[in-house]
Amino acid sequence: MISKEAVVIKPGKLFIDGKWVNSVSGKTFDTLNPAREEVITSIAEGDRADIDLAVAAARKAFEEGPWKKMDARDRGKILLRIMELIDKNKDELALLETLDNGKPISETTNADIPLAIDCFLYYAGWADKIHGETIPVRGEFFNYTLREPVGVVGQIIPWNFPLLMAAWKIAPALACGNTIVLKPAEETPLTALRLGEICQEAGLPDGVLNIVPGYGPTAGAALAEHMDVDKIAFTGAHTTGRIIMQAASKNLKRITLELGGKSPNIVFADSDIESAVDGAMTGIFFNQGEVCCAGSRLFLERSIHDEFVDKLSNKAANMRVGNPEDAGTQMGAQVSKEQLDKILGYIDVGKQEGAKLVTGGERCGEKGYFIRPTIFDAVDNNMKIAREEIFGPVVSAITFDDVDEVVRQGNLSVYGLAAAVWTKDIKKAHRLARDLKAGTIWINTYNALDAASPFGGFKQSGFGRELGVHALELYTQIKSVWINLGS
Ligand code: ADP
Repeated sequence: MISKEAVVIKPGKLFIDGKWVNSVSGKTFDTLNPAREEVITSIAEGDRADIDLAVAAARKAFEEGPWKKMDARDRGKILLRIMELIDKNKDELALLETLDNGKPISETTNADIPLAIDCFLYYAGWADKIHGETIPVRGEFFNYTLREPVGVVGQIIPWNFPLLMAAWKIAPALACGNTIVLKPAEETPLTALRLGEICQEAGLPDGVLNIVPGYGPTAGAALAEHMDVDKIAFTGAHTTGRIIMQAASKNLKRITLELGGKSPNIVFADSDIESAVDGAMTGIFFNQGEVCCAGSRLFLERSIHDEFVDKLSNKAANMRVGNPEDAGTQMGAQVSKEQLDKILGYIDVGKQEGAKLVTGGERCGEKGYFIRPTIFDAVDNNMKIAREEIFGPVVSAITFDDVDEVVRQGNLSVYGLAAAVWTKDIKKAHRLARDLKAGTIWINTYNALDAASPFGGFKQSGFGRELGVHALELYTQIKSVWINLGS
């Protein structure tokens, strides 16, 4: 494992047109280590003027640069080189992510960074396999389609998986030949900036990827409403998604949104209870619950309810919460004071609503934004804690009696990002996979993800599918070409 001293933390600059620059205003903001409540470094604060410069650089790189005209296979090779360099620097990136976000080093090492590597590997392979089709139209014509890049793409990402979300956005956009302006979350800009250095080292031409850290309502809003941005891809809160959709309407830019969730995790009495308990733990406590597809509504069949809650609360109470830099830590710090207060606020609401607090429910220690893994039992699906996304380590257990009822309750949410079902009955499993309204269904597992499999939401969890072949549709547009073969 890399030592903390081995991570060189530089003041963050903006990455525009292949150069590392200060912001036009000269303003900076601090990025914090949420586990120590200490400033890590200062970051140049991008705003409208910087977004203008970054978009102009991306436009020039798209229209005049070598990127679009390059052999697709060579584009793929650059993506492979980015992948190799992330791999080469994986320990440094894992630690950087842990310091900036507060999540345990075991998770950044075993999930965030390997998944980012895999994402670049997967899309490197796609670069030279994106093509149109020939179509047998009526008459004396030859008709074919070209699948072309969309152009300048704005990407706004959240703080919960900073490098991984950057990879999900950047890799497919590059594979398709677009140019990018990326705005990382103000809480966690460090790994995105390091990725910029890596892309430069890998030979990505100037202006193809521009990175502008800054605040949402300033830099983010400027990007979302920019008249020369062709597409905006956003991951974050559904309230922000609404604002971005409005801003994007100014020039009718294409838009994809990956928003929140309140995912049902449904456990039947005929499941393997030990695995289901482990799945429920992963479902809600992975990444301190700061996961859009967290299994925050835990539906338990009545006959196993007591045993399940006992087992789950024992495990939750024994989780190692603390210094995220320790290899044995299982849950780290929430990302910010704002997030900590929001979660503690929801815990108060749960108590007031009459839910039964089984374990946790409080801050852990005095320094750092740590919260104990929290389980509410006897929750009614209509309670606020069962309806609203808490984005923290708080699960609501709800008892059910039959299959139709749990499907109805599970679907009773404005969200539809993911759902999980635990059962040994294959018929029931497939029936629920069909009937639950969510973009991802997990059967006897939780949080399984792969660069090759699509991810995205039903209902107010957003639209457009990231990852897999589906993301290529988001980053390309189709042109139909007609050739007259007649006289
Ligand atoms: P959270 O509330 O969990 O921080 P947000 O949706 O606010 O989630 O943040 C996700 C990303 O959206 C961040 O990069 C943030 O800066 C950005 N953002 C926030 N508000 C806006 C906005 N009005 N316009 C564009 N981007 C925004």
